[in-house]
Amino acid sequence: MLNIVIFGAPGSGKGTQSVLIAQKYGLVHLSTGDILRDEIAKGTTIGKFANTLISKGDLVPDDLIIKLLNQKIIEHKGFCNGFIFDGFPRTVTQAQALDEMLAQNGKKLSLMLDLQVKESMLIDRLIARGKTSGRSDDNLETIQKRLTIYHHVTAPVVDFYKSTKRFNAISNNTTVEDCFLQIEKLIDSFKLI
Ligand code: ADP
Repeated sequence: MLNIVIFGAPGSGKGTQSVLIAQKYGLVHLSTGDILRDEIAKGTTIGKFANTLISKGDLVPDDLIIKLLNQKIIEHKGFCNGFIFDGFPRTVTQAQALDEMLAQNGKKLSLMLDLQVKESMLIDRLIARGKTSGRSDDNLETIQKRLTIYHHVTAPVVDFYKSTKRFNAISNNTTVEDCFLQIEKLIDSFKLI
């Protein structure tokens, strides 16, 4: 059983690397951004509420996102080799809740991977993505707000994982392939323990 949190600022490549990790290690990829965008596309009450926050670059409330993620963990219970959590946790409250949700299902978190990218590169990547993603939050003003929230609210999650010895820094300033090589090395050496 391998349960991984992939962490990093908006535009740090969490989604891209998560797909590669899920494929290679047979994990279920749970992206909270994708889960919310799915609710928006379906026009649900949660989707309508989330849309007002996401399009402004704000986070959705902890209790809502924790509940949504818990449902997904329960749905896949017993049917997978583990999970890759992408975009969650984004607050220390969410990080604590994740440990509790996993424990309730007889699981625990193996690794936290922090994708580290230079700020100027993050902005360039998100603006480039905005040209094709159709995402309401991939424009300069909202990107800057998301980065500010990341530094103030989300970055403290790093200390939580450092204090519980599951933190691993991964540099993602070059290519998708180079980043994935570093991740494979880490996961493979973890599996040997
Ligand atoms: P990115 O990492 O590029 O910002 P995501 O797809 O992970 O993109 O998230 C998009 C938006 O969805 C976030 O800006 C936020 O509004 C909302 N969101 C996603 N995950 C969470 C979460 N764990 N807690 C609160 N809000 C979230």
